[in-house]
Amino acid sequence: MAKERTLSIIKPDATRRKLTDKINARFTARGLKIVAQKPMQLSRTQAEGFYDVHKERPFFGSLVAFMISGPVVVQVLEGDNAVALNREIMGATDPSKAAPGTIRKDFAESIEANSVHGSDSTETAKREIAFFFPEL
Ligand code: ATP
Ligand code: MG
Repeated sequence: MAKERTLSIIKPDATRRKLTDKINARFTARGLKIVAQKPMQLSRTQAEGFYDVHKERPFFGSLVAFMISGPVVVQVLEGDNAVALNREIMGATDPSKAAPGTIRKDFAESIEANSVHGSDSTETAKREIAFFFPEL
């Protein structure tokens, strides 16, 4: 299996409930290494830029407002098959549909306030890592 990197964001609903350490333990327990990590308060411009692919969606305005409602932790996870493995650890977007034992099943508040972001392909991961960590 190929070693990959993926971009992860611990979202404001999770930082507000001080879940960062618990969420990071889910990643490391499954063999993902946290190779970069920084707490940030996203600006509106950053949140809109990051979620630009969703700008035509009805939930875009609400999603941006949520993402700037408090601090986030942006991080780069590395390991075998990291993109797909992280999506598996996160669970489905809607926590009511997420599998048992996933981060979203255990911690998410709603389909919007769903605790974590993870890149959805290796191509997306490259773009998203460059967005927050241009030095990597
Ligand atoms: P992410 O990109 O954050 O990892 P995802 O790939 O599972 O999540 P996307 O379809 O890319 O889901 O949606 C991006 C984010 O937009 C979701 O994580 C969630 O916070 C929000 N979102 C998605 N669908 C809805 C919806 N129907 N209503 C409200 N918010 C939504
Ligand atoms: Mg997505």
